[in-house]
Amino acid sequence: MFGLLKSHRLTYHDRHDVGGGVWSFAFLPDRPLHARAGQHGILQLGAAAMKPFSLASAPEDELVLIGTSIASGSGFKQRLAALRTGDPVTLRGPVNDFTLDTTRGPVVMLAQGVGITPLRSMLAHLRLNGLRTPSTLIHVATGGHAYRRDTEAWATRSAYPEHAEQFRLATIAAAQDDPTATFFVAGASPFVSSTAALLRDHGVAADSIRRDTYLGYRPRPAVTPEPAAAGSQH
Ligand SMILES: Cc1cc2nc3c(=O)[nH]c(=O)nc-3n(C[C@H](O)[C@H](O)[C@H](O)COP(=O)(O)OP(=O)(O)OC[C@H]3O[C@@H](n4cnc5c(N)ncnc54)[C@H](O)[C@@H]3O)c2cc1C
Repeated sequence: MFGLLKSHRLTYHDRHDVGGGVWSFAFLPDRPLHARAGQHGILQLGAAAMKPFSLASAPEDELVLIGTSIASGSGFKQRLAALRTGDPVTLRGPVNDFTLDTTRGPVVMLAQGVGITPLRSMLAHLRLNGLRTPSTLIHVATGGHAYRRDTEAWATRSAYPEHAEQFRLATIAAAQDDPTATFFVAGASPFVSSTAALLRDHGVAADSIRRDTYLGYRPRPAVTPEPAAAGSQH
């Protein structure tokens, strides 16, 4: 939490459509963030306009990337969409321990919608450092998978289900394949808790499950598993 006391000035650079209704906003920091792959920061666009965002870029990247949809039309997203090249913004952080430990062996990454952002950061970090940590990504989304072009190229294995049941089956298979891997789960609160329960049901120890819960994020409806359709706890 003390990381939030750190404040960085960033300059807006540009934005790109990365699929799944998500734009990747790029910023140039005034000095290195000293982030670890998977961390998030609080993006501040005005005195009262601030929201948390995982960093989608690797710590080694020159530009800081934030991936998000602007479809809600919220006041914050209107300000974000209105940024022009050269505009200054503030980032508090980075914070959290949803980070990669490359000494712990294989990783399984489970993302819902825009929950892909910290996992893209981890995959980019592995690639940029030539690290051989085996990585399995299962990214569930409807209407396209954000950053798929990158993640498909960088993950050792990847799957892009569009429905909750496909995601559930792929996740069970990954848990059974290697229950001793480290499992990273990122997305909206119901997704993270139900996926963690599913992993526990299939032999994964609680301390091997790492969670990044996007409070405030509500994905397109089909992405959050309905309890009845997803089996026990899922
Ligand atoms: C640790 C952490 C990391 C996070 N990282 C990310 C990240 O990397 N990327 C990211 O996008 N978010 C991330 N979030 C969530 C983010 O902070 C915002 O809450 C989220 O982006 C929604 O903000 P908003 O201003 O669009 O919507 P809000 O103002 O919070 O909601 C406005 C209304 O619009 C609705 N709405 C939301 N999305 C849509 C949509 N696509 N279409 C129609 N209506 C919609 C909402 O349900 C709500 O009713 C993270 C949150 C946490 C806690």
